[in-house]
Amino acid sequence: MTTTNKEDNFAEWYLDIVEKAGLSDKRYPIKGMNVWTPYGWRIMRQIDSYIREEFDATNHDEVCFPLLIPESQFAKEKEHIKGFDSEVYWVTHAGLDELDERLVIRPTSETAMYPMFALWIRSHQDLPLKTYQIVNTFRYETKQTRPFIRVREIHFFESHTCHTDYDDAQKQVDEDIEILARIAKKICLPYTLLVRTEWDKFPGAYYTVGIDTSMPNGRTLQMGSIHHYKTNFSEPYEITYEDKDGEHKFVHQTTYGMSERLVGALIGVHGDDQGLIIPPGIAPFQIVLIPIFKKDNQGLVMASVKEIEKVLTDAGFRVKLDDRDDRPGAKYYEWEMKGVPLRLELGGRDIENNVVSFFRRDSAEKGTIAIGNLVPGVKMLLDDISECMFNKANEIQKQRTADIDSLENIPEDKILRFGWCGCDECGHKFEDTTGFKILGRPYFKEEFKGKCIMCGKDVDAPAYAAHTM
Ligand code: ZN
Repeated sequence: MTTTNKEDNFAEWYLDIVEKAGLSDKRYPIKGMNVWTPYGWRIMRQIDSYIREEFDATNHDEVCFPLLIPESQFAKEKEHIKGFDSEVYWVTHAGLDELDERLVIRPTSETAMYPMFALWIRSHQDLPLKTYQIVNTFRYETKQTRPFIRVREIHFFESHTCHTDYDDAQKQVDEDIEILARIAKKICLPYTLLVRTEWDKFPGAYYTVGIDTSMPNGRTLQMGSIHHYKTNFSEPYEITYEDKDGEHKFVHQTTYGMSERLVGALIGVHGDDQGLIIPPGIAPFQIVLIPIFKKDNQGLVMASVKEIEKVLTDAGFRVKLDDRDDRPGAKYYEWEMKGVPLRLELGGRDIENNVVSFFRRDSAEKGTIAIGNLVPGVKMLLDDISECMFNKANEIQKQRTADIDSLENIPEDKILRFGWCGCDECGHKFEDTTGFKILGRPYFKEEFKGKCIMCGKDVDAPAYAAHTM
């Protein structure tokens, strides 16, 4: 059990789960830089490997750029440098010598990559260029840090693409959104796609689509973002290509980034007071196998449970056989805390009846599977767990959204949906009056008829606002 209740004290509950499930250790002596402990890292690796699978399958090439970026290279795009100025780490010395030029520790990799892209891209035949990397980035967070959600060293995935024109880059944004849908399904996470306001878009972007999910305390968590850069970076970095007619043109660019916040999101969205619940699609162990024996049948039970382990592993499931010398109850407690989606138990009576007993972490449902039907039975259960987790999370997210048409009695713990004319003045006034942050307008058009909540002008698209993590 967690020591605090998820609904009543989300912040403490979250930290409690991170510690008890063994996800990370925050005692490392630099604030906001935590140690990934083995079980947490296993989860991150599962997510990373699924991200690799998706990007490899859509013809992106994985690259790995240096961590350090020369200051002059970093400062080329004016908005970008302004946006990151206050939160980058600098390397100023090498050995005993002060460096002639300071080096930035990457907060993101545009400025590391783009001078190289300028060398790599010559002709329209080099396009589209689609790359990605999975690396750590560094940002000096001044707000209160929190494992996976607000850290100073961030495990990060970023794709960077170059295209002949705006429309081709736009198609990439659409492909990114399809990839996102598959990743979100795998992790059973609901999300919204909102085009960020002008004052909140990524520094240097033409537009930014924020990917948000909602947490149990009613706040939203940005899990990632997709950006269309147009030629905002290719111009200062001189990334050009020769088109079919021999004319030199600037490429249009996109990026898509997500981070370890996905782990934070899955803890917050799926966990309960018994611990973590990990979606089968990315669970390091989808099944934990627990033998239950007495002295007189230990040999028989262990032989049978090992056979089951082999059958399930050969069928492609990620299985953990917990044959430690400990009480089954203690093992149940530990694996429930760690969120393993399916527990299988095998005892003398199960063997007599030719079944294994199961326990579903998501619903606490118990039952048996016939040994002869083991592989399809387990597959059916895991698929059903995924579907139930996804549906439940989506249902909760829907309930956390409230339509408002005035500034009276605004529910503080909801995501607000309302009319906004889109002008900066009304937007800023709304944020200042309510203390909510405008997340943006829907990327995909939503049916809406209403009036701007500030100036009363008729509007046909809603805006969303929330308190953010
Ligand atoms: Zn207005």
